[in-house]
Amino acid sequence: MTALRWLQMFLAVMLSRLVGWLSRLAGHGGSSLPGLIARRLDPDVLTRLGARLSGGVALITGTNGKTTTAALAAAALEEGGVRVVRNPSGANLILGLTTALAGDVDCLLRPKSGLALLETDEATMPRAGEELAPRLVAVTNFFRDQLDRYGELSTTVDLVSRGLERLRPGGRAVLNADDPQAAALAAKAPDVWFYGLDYGHEVDTDEPPGDARFCPRCRQELRYTQRYYAHLGHYRCPACGFQRPDPRVRVEAVTGSGDQRELQLATPAGPLAVPLQLPGTYNVYNAVLAVTIALALGTAPEAVAAGLARGRAAFGRMEAVVWRGREIRLALVKNPTGFNQVLRTLAEDARAKDVLVAINDRYADGRDVSWLWDVDFEGVAARIGAESWWVSGTRALDMAIRLKYAGVASDRITVGDGDPGACLEQVVEQTERPLYVLPTYTAMLELRERLTQRGVVRHFREG
Ligand SMILES: [Zn+2]
Repeated sequence: MTALRWLQMFLAVMLSRLVGWLSRLAGHGGSSLPGLIARRLDPDVLTRLGARLSGGVALITGTNGKTTTAALAAAALEEGGVRVVRNPSGANLILGLTTALAGDVDCLLRPKSGLALLETDEATMPRAGEELAPRLVAVTNFFRDQLDRYGELSTTVDLVSRGLERLRPGGRAVLNADDPQAAALAAKAPDVWFYGLDYGHEVDTDEPPGDARFCPRCRQELRYTQRYYAHLGHYRCPACGFQRPDPRVRVEAVTGSGDQRELQLATPAGPLAVPLQLPGTYNVYNAVLAVTIALALGTAPEAVAAGLARGRAAFGRMEAVVWRGREIRLALVKNPTGFNQVLRTLAEDARAKDVLVAINDRYADGRDVSWLWDVDFEGVAARIGAESWWVSGTRALDMAIRLKYAGVASDRITVGDGDPGACLEQVVEQTERPLYVLPTYTAMLELRERLTQRGVVRHFREG
């Protein structure tokens, strides 16, 4: 690199960080602006920063589970002695990726970390692939999500596929064998590690059919011999023979319950038992993906198990906090499948509880809240054991109506303060039961703000 180009990159990085620092000082979070400044001053800054990482760049994409997977995989990698730089959850567009890497170098532009593990929005995958030439791309799953943003599911799959094509030579894809759309992406990568679940599991028959139960090759309806939820499971196409590939890393048994479980895995390195401190089947997928990523990047199995034991929930992903003696768990909800999984997880907790649902319709949440009608409240609301349902957010009334239609008694539904944080305070004053809070994305940020102000959670860059 010539001295002039180095100087260009130096100025881009340092000015972006100065702006980030000033912006935080002024009380703004803002993970986009520093990235924007850096890219204006040096359009190749992301490529250059990525190339400086000795361990390269790994991208995690897909509809649900990116943040939790990244948190668990990073814990495993760090246990294996690799320092990992991550982007904060939600800062998963190209500017957020740039901000994250620009924040990770010293004043000689040497990276502090060995490897970048970046959760990446599906729409950003073509660009991220092009600029970062990733060493690994991991795909969680494909569900219908915020239709007003990306249109059809096939569009989303195509965007991810374009990112996969940019794997660097020798690069590796980690794909969900149980998701037909994700598994079909194997055609785009020479070296694929599949992961999946391989244990007997009772399917909730009332679960609505998945978004993607049709063959990605010939559009026939797939036949399932095992289904874990939605369209995730063991499938085969009766017409063209497309079928679930054999996973290289698979979960053969799950023992324990709630957030005290253990997974028995079969891996290329032999059997491996890992603890899982997060509830729900969807978190079994997140955990096995995290394990697969870490193993595929060369982490020792013992370090992977130790990392999973240390791995905590990311904020708003079922992490428990205690406020005024009351246990509060927040679980982000952003699409029907994710919401269904959260509701089923609540039903597994037999205690009496209260539930606060905070629905906003800002851009980052998706402006159209009609997806709430695709959530299976009818099938599961009665089994949750909620003493009271509170609703908040800009679309609190939509949520109240949705619950009423699902058969929840009116006297159990309270329309609280429209501000999710204020509503949380209202609920906490009422009872001492455990409280589950289910916010959309911007509602979650508002709740975090409130919990931070009250000293319940430390002020932290999410991640
Ligand atoms: Zn087919």
